[in-house]
Amino acid sequence: MRRKLVAANWKMNGDTALVSGLLSGFLEAELGAKCDVAIFAPTIFLPQVAATLKESKIRWGGQNSAAYLKGAYTGETSSVMLKECGCQYVLVGHSERRALFGDTNEICGVKTELALSEGLIPVVCVGETLEQREANQTMDIVREQLRAVIDQVGIDALASCVIAYEPVWAIGTGVTASPDQAQAVHADIRAYVAEQRASVAEKIQILYGGSVTAGTAQELFGMPDVDGGLVGGASLKLSEFVTICHSAE
Ligand code: PEP
Repeated sequence: MRRKLVAANWKMNGDTALVSGLLSGFLEAELGAKCDVAIFAPTIFLPQVAATLKESKIRWGGQNSAAYLKGAYTGETSSVMLKECGCQYVLVGHSERRALFGDTNEICGVKTELALSEGLIPVVCVGETLEQREANQTMDIVREQLRAVIDQVGIDALASCVIAYEPVWAIGTGVTASPDQAQAVHADIRAYVAEQRASVAEKIQILYGGSVTAGTAQELFGMPDVDGGLVGGASLKLSEFVTICHSAE
């Protein structure tokens, strides 16, 4: 059976005091014991996260990494640097990166490859816009996004990744995909991977992301192909995120 993973994406939010308060609460709630929990903090706070969580079962990661390992790329953070901050994970291709910062499918493939080369677990984010869903293109879009990554790293390396299905229309909108809508896409993602390697499809964690709340988590995480969630807004609220994690246990 696949272990569930609940991931917090804090995006560009928080300050030292908020980070400290959230982390203390997560430690007190002993998150990470019964399901995997990962905190995706802004890069500047990663040393604070690492220092606070290092003796715990909670993991952490970067929200993005450069498509290069080092050099003259002002403002970028490499997978090597994330690794040095003790990160176990990195997000790749979050829809905000794709829409606002030019992360194409091909760039996501390269970022996945570099993250893997440094021993990080890439959480590859995929998902369609509302317009694409309404045009019945959801699976074409999602498969294309995954294909670019598989072309770059190979199907066997995908076993060392996590996939996050995040419909763009659900991210930060308060509109959550229904459990059936999420399950349908997750099952299709797993089928797509299985066409190439059944053992990878069986093992890979596929998270749902998009306005997950304490009220919607349990039913979503109860679907057979939903292996947890990537949580944005609700992960900045201590008791709500703790409840979401308990829903996955
Ligand atoms: C996200 O940023 O990955 C996300 C799912 O955000 P939210 O939960 O706020 O929709």
